[in-house]
Amino acid sequence: MFGQRKKIKEILQHGIAGDKVTIMGWVRTFRNNQFIAIQDGSSQRNFQIVMPEGILSESDLKRITTGASLKVKGEVVNSTGKGQALELKATSIEILGDSDPEKYPLQPKKHSLEFLREKAHLRFRTNTFGAVFRIRHSLAFAIHQFFHERGFIYLHSPVITASDAEGAGEMFRVTTLPLDQLPKTEENEINFREDFFGKSTHLTVSGQLEAELAATAFGDVYTFGPTFRAENSNTTRHLAEFWMIEPEMAFYDIEDNMNLAEAFIKAIIQFVLDHNKEDLDFLAERLAEEEKSLPVDKRSEMGLLEKLQLVCREPFERITYTEAIEILQASSYYKKKKFKFDVQWGIDLQSEHERYLVEKHFKKPVIVTAYPEGIKAFYMRMNADGKTVAAMDILAPGIGEIVGGSQREERLDKLLDRMEKMNVPTAEMQWYLDIRRFGTVPHAGFGLGFERIVQFVTGMGNIRDVIPFARTPKNCEF
Ligand code: ATP
Ligand code: MN
Repeated sequence: MFGQRKKIKEILQHGIAGDKVTIMGWVRTFRNNQFIAIQDGSSQRNFQIVMPEGILSESDLKRITTGASLKVKGEVVNSTGKGQALELKATSIEILGDSDPEKYPLQPKKHSLEFLREKAHLRFRTNTFGAVFRIRHSLAFAIHQFFHERGFIYLHSPVITASDAEGAGEMFRVTTLPLDQLPKTEENEINFREDFFGKSTHLTVSGQLEAELAATAFGDVYTFGPTFRAENSNTTRHLAEFWMIEPEMAFYDIEDNMNLAEAFIKAIIQFVLDHNKEDLDFLAERLAEEEKSLPVDKRSEMGLLEKLQLVCREPFERITYTEAIEILQASSYYKKKKFKFDVQWGIDLQSEHERYLVEKHFKKPVIVTAYPEGIKAFYMRMNADGKTVAAMDILAPGIGEIVGGSQREERLDKLLDRMEKMNVPTAEMQWYLDIRRFGTVPHAGFGLGFERIVQFVTGMGNIRDVIPFARTPKNCEF
């Protein structure tokens, strides 16, 4: 039965009048007892079925409702109606699954994103989420393709980890200990020796440290997997469970790292521009419509497509952290006290600062380098000035930080100095230090939050709307 199925996308692309096909999908609308708009998820566009009188009984006609699933056989014909070139003249229609119109939540009208978040099990069937998740898929594919073509090895870093050295955020504990009867040591502390792994373990916040190990054997590797942060930040850019891509390259300095990150972002966006035109057009229109309700000064200066094309075309701006601070301090925003947080050399740039640099000052993505050592992780390489490290963050319009990366400290003595200064325990980190003991090499890498790039490309304002089932504080449905 299912082998005969043709996808709507294929018919729209390659079909010609006269083709005999079988399609299967879900009803969007049904009008005049004759025209069925059907969707099978393969394409942004609905496909129109024209149903000659008499193929279905009176009672079956009533079962053609929004959300019902159908198997339709018929002949592809040139459409006389507006909006489509081809349609399907049905010769037989089989109802595979009913959908009670009184109960089906997705009626053929506009639903709010908030409403659809509650119906996340069904929202895949809407135009918006169809587009978002087809683009999410394309980006994932483009990421693998980009690295594969350059000879990178895809490394599956562990999800459960005992190292808490990354310090990238709060961690979720993994345990099988009975919570109501925790085993205690003589010092009355929890005895993790009795836990599953015989020690305290967590869900990973990053695969970077493991990627560094593999990079010193394969040269170029990348991870692409779920990461977890128990940070209680209810923002439109943070999830408790998100996917991260972390390339790590031996024989790379910070410059090489920036070049790769920029080429990477451009390549994956270009892939979507080339392969998801209809989905992007749909989302661009949706965004433009949404922005009409905003005050003029809050609207984007560019449409979604222009924004993406600009990112692919223009070189990213590259500035040092020190230059960033100078620009911010010289800005009218600073002088008029429009920033909530103060701007001083040494601060961690707040998202209002990042957005000012990207959206108001440069109007394109910006790579900021050479951050003060005090605000960056222990593994980042100390610069010759003794004050800054070879870090780089890429800031994107509308999102802020999208990539965080650095050249890693490959000199054992310098690394030990920094670990001591930042209270990172060295005893459990011998495996990490061994990489510097045996054939150490300059190396660098970065992390790209997958959902952040999906947000950027789709123009979706809330990160909860670009992952199938969002995990956020006090929310773990489905
Ligand atoms: P932010 O300042 O936005 O919280 P971060 O400095 O904590 O980011 P990194 O530790 O450098 O981020 O993580 C690498 C990348 O992972 C970030 O550039 C961002 O794209 C993404 N990222 C970080 N935290 C989250 C999160 N909670 N949800 C989704 N993506 C995230
Ligand atoms: Mn964070």
